[in-house]
Amino acid sequence: MILLMGIAGSGKGTQGKMLSDQFGYHLISMGDVLRMYVTGEQRQRMLAGGLLDDNEIIKIVDQVLESVLDNEEVILDGFPRTVPQAEWLLEQVKSGRFQINNVFHLVASRGAVKERLLGRARIDDVEEAIEKRFDEYEKLTMPLIDWLTDHNVEVINIDAVRSQAEVNADIVSKLKKS
Ligand code: AMP
Repeated sequence: MILLMGIAGSGKGTQGKMLSDQFGYHLISMGDVLRMYVTGEQRQRMLAGGLLDDNEIIKIVDQVLESVLDNEEVILDGFPRTVPQAEWLLEQVKSGRFQINNVFHLVASRGAVKERLLGRARIDDVEEAIEKRFDEYEKLTMPLIDWLTDHNVEVINIDAVRSQAEVNADIVSKLKKS
């Protein structure tokens, strides 16, 4: 399993797609999965840039992983994003359901990615929702980086403020395969 973490606009989606095409891996993009599953109030929360409830997310990711797990590598783009999500994931690892081979943290400042986001055409790529996603990332996801390190999961920081090809080459050079 390869985990891709990073602030909104850091290129998780793009890099996940490149890797999955290059190596033939499954690609699970949490944002895309949620756009398929989530409706009503929760959908509005997503569009406003807020993270969804951990238990809901875990239930969904559990089901999705069940449908793809077959000893082939899986790239998870956008999960885990909080400590409770990571706790669940490490429990799964402990129970032998799968193993984490790589965790990449795509590092970029708010300033560096904001223009990128404003240039996309997603409804949650408007100023207010972008700021909310940045805040959620700082409050809930940044602490997770240290938490993973404390739990002996190596997190590899990747400078994401470069061309897509450069970031991809860096990730590929650091990829560990099981
Ligand atoms: P993304 O496409 O990765 O930018 O995700 C879009 C939105 O989906 C986020 O702003 C959150 O509202 C929601 N989301 C995606 N992944 C998660 C997660 N692991 N936990 C909670 N909410 C999530």
